[in-house]
Amino acid sequence: MTKKITIAIDGFSSTGKSTLAKQLAKHLGYIYVDTGAMYRAVALFAMQNDFISVNSLDKIGLINSLKNIILEFKFNSDLGFAEMYLNGQNVEKEIRTIEVSGFVSKVAEISEVRSKLVEQQQEMGKNKAIVMDGRDIGTVVFPDAELKIFMTASAATRAQRRFDELQQKGDSVTYEEVLKNVEERDYIDTHREDSPLVMADDAVEIDNSHLTREEQFEAVLDLVNAIVKAN
Ligand code: C5P
Repeated sequence: MTKKITIAIDGFSSTGKSTLAKQLAKHLGYIYVDTGAMYRAVALFAMQNDFISVNSLDKIGLINSLKNIILEFKFNSDLGFAEMYLNGQNVEKEIRTIEVSGFVSKVAEISEVRSKLVEQQQEMGKNKAIVMDGRDIGTVVFPDAELKIFMTASAATRAQRRFDELQQKGDSVTYEEVLKNVEERDYIDTHREDSPLVMADDAVEIDNSHLTREEQFEAVLDLVNAIVKAN
């Protein structure tokens, strides 16, 4: 039987982590978990319950309400991946808006939020055969993952990708707004006290500014095959 491994994919916003993770999970028959969706769902909950607004964050209120947040992934066979459910509601569309992107990093700074989500993520990965993407997967969630990838690309490249994606969905947003959001999230994600975004010492760095999706996928698949064969 082929050995099952844990694949941790971390990196900056809009580096294509989820595209690569989905490709790998599909090819290997592994579970795919988008941890950003979980933080986004908590941010959406905070917005819906007035714990966060442009000028304020009621941290204590949100922490006290964490017990009322149930996050689930349900596989959508038409789409070929799992969608995020917040307290029984499919929120896949709502969590991808620029508004949620504007608040999510502030919510993700809260240690109590992080420990709740990390615990759930570790539980999902206890049987391996998982590809998980996020910011702290190789450093905090699965420090013993057999393969860790750290993805980078220039902020301009990433903002353009995100802008194209949002435009396709009909979101009326400007490129400048997206670039500002990407840069702000990079800053908060790399400077927060709890689990900042850093490359794990044993991660393989991939700058995909000039790589096609296929080239990137093939390169990572080679790494997976080498690890599986060696074990
Ligand atoms: O991956 P995505 O861009 O959807 O993540 C949204 C935000 O959630 C990130 O900018 C970051 O603030 C937070 N996040 C995190 N840790 C993770 C995944 C996401 O702090 N493992």
